[in-house]
Order: sequence, then C-alpha cells, then structure tokens
Amino acid sequence: MTAIVLDGDELARRKRGELAQRAQELRDAGIVPTLATVLVGDNPASRSYVARKHADCREVGIQSREILLPADISQANLLSVVSDLNADTSVHGFLVQFPLPEGLDEGAAASAILPTKDIDGLHPFNLGCLLTGHPTVLPCTPAGVLELLTAYDVPLAGKRVLIIGRGTLVGRPLAMLLSMKGIDATVTLAHSSTPDMADLARQSDIIISAAGIPDLVTRDMVKPGAAVVGVGITYDGEGRMVSDIADEVALVAGWKTPRHGSVGSLTRAFLLTNLLQLAKA
Ligand code: NAD
Repeated sequence: MTAIVLDGDELARRKRGELAQRAQELRDAGIVPTLATVLVGDNPASRSYVARKHADCREVGIQSREILLPADISQANLLSVVSDLNADTSVHGFLVQFPLPEGLDEGAAASAILPTKDIDGLHPFNLGCLLTGHPTVLPCTPAGVLELLTAYDVPLAGKRVLIIGRGTLVGRPLAMLLSMKGIDATVTLAHSSTPDMADLARQSDIIISAAGIPDLVTRDMVKPGAAVVGVGITYDGEGRMVSDIADEVALVAGWKTPRHGSVGSLTRAFLLTNLLQLAKA
C-alpha cells in the first residue's frame, strides 16, 4: 500500500481562491478587510512566518499592517500596543507572533487581545466557546487539520483518533474540535508522560502528531490503512522542514502528510478565514 498524500498546500491554494472572492464581496460592501501582526524581536523563523502571512493577505486582497517591536520592549508597552489595536476600528483582527522573547508573558498578551479581534482563536474566551461546543473563531491549526481530513474524505465519526502533544496551540484544542458533537471522533490525547504510546497508536484509525519530534511516528506504530498527520515541525541540518512522521509510514498508512509540511499553509488560510469572518461581523 502507498498512502494517499494529504496535500495541504494544494488545498490551501484553492481556499485562498475562495477567500479572495469573499474579500472582494466585503470591499464591494465598503469594508476594507484589514489584518495586523505584531512581531517582537527578530527571531528568523517568526520573521519568515509573519512574512508568509502578509504575502497570503496580498494574494487574497486583505490589507495588512506589520508592527515591529524591539526585543527589549517592556510587558506594559507591549500591552499598550495591543490595546491600541483593540481600539483601532480600521483593524478587524490581529495577532501577536509567538514565541515572545524571554521575559514577556505570552498568556497575558493573548488574553489582552479582544476576543472579537482574535484571529488566532487562542483567546481564553474563544477557546472556552470551543470547549462548550459553541465555537466562535476556531484556532487555525486545529481547523486546518480538520479541513485536511474532511477534504480527503477520511472518516471521523466513531473513529479512534490519537493526538500526540497537549500544547494549547494544537493538541488540546484539536482534541476538543474532533470530539465535538457532529464530528464525533473518540479522541485520546497523548503527551511526553504517556506510557505505551505505540500500543495506543496501533489501535487508532487516525494519528495526528503535534509534538515536534522528527520521525516520532514510525511504521510499526501504524495500523494498516490509518490516516497519519504530521503537525509538529523541526528543521534538519540543511534548514529543511521535517515532519513528526517517518517516511516509511507511507507504506502502511491509507493517508499521510508529506515530509516537508502540509498543515502550515492551511493554518495561514484559516487565519485569513477568521479575519474575514470577524470583518464581516
Ligand atoms: P508544545 O511544546 O506546546 O507541545 C508539544 C507537546 O508535545 C507537549 O504536550 C509534549 O508533552 C508533547 N511531546 C513532546 N515529546 C513527546 C514525545 N516524545 N511523546 C509524546 N508527546 C511528546 O508545542 P505546540 O505549540 O503545541 O506545537 C506543537 C508542534 O506543532 C511544534 O513542533 C510546532 O512547531 C508545530 N506547529 C505547527 C503548526 C503548523 O501550522 N504546521 C502550527 C503550530 C505548531
């Protein structure tokens, strides 16, 4: 068996086409959808992520504004920038790029963003809405994973899903999303203290790894025909992106994401989806 490739890049390209149409409809109605990013310091990976978000905005027809702040900014001054963006009626949504430099409190920054401008979907209010089964704006990466699985007709209802990684950005909200009524997966959330993870994996119809450990999921852990999604990202010696899923998994899986990423472009597409939703609201 050779697994069907879960091609998130192609899916995201099509999604950007749909988003461009929705952005045009808003502009026709007199609303110029506008996104802002706040980047603190000069972490090269963060700079590159932010640059791609602005490039997607240009392609889709969303106006975007980039705010660059020095790495030694105080927490109070950072929160004051967030507060200004909350009050700026020309900005429909914004994000503070993480990780923040040492000494700055990410939780406080995420909580200071108005839930109605939270395009990452990571404000405690928006996460709480997901938890109670009434989602508002969805966290972008979990939304991207769900889109990837549904677009490729991977069955979810009644299926056993193993999510590896309990981070707030991916694992935890993804567990909430896939176990929601109507999606109906049975989710197990594994983490670095989970014993017998390989056994859990072999019992699963879908494995999603958001740990950031290269080749964490190996062929012997995968039930034949299962869907295997790599969300975790690391970089090899040549600076190329490496997935949590070993290549050999393609020999047994029914579906698998490619080695060099698939979910990142969908994550960005959902950022713009959230922005247009908030601009319309
Ligand atoms: P995090 O550090 O908050 O969480 C990582 C989780 O992995 C932790 O819960 C930890 O317990 C678990 N873990 C670590 N080693 C493990 C092991 N050996 N076995 C089982 N579990 C283990 O990270 P995060 O912010 O949730 O992000 C997770 C990964 O996803 C990172 O690699 C990040 O770069 C990537 N990511 C990708 C995208 C994308 O768009 N593709 C978006 C966000 C995050």
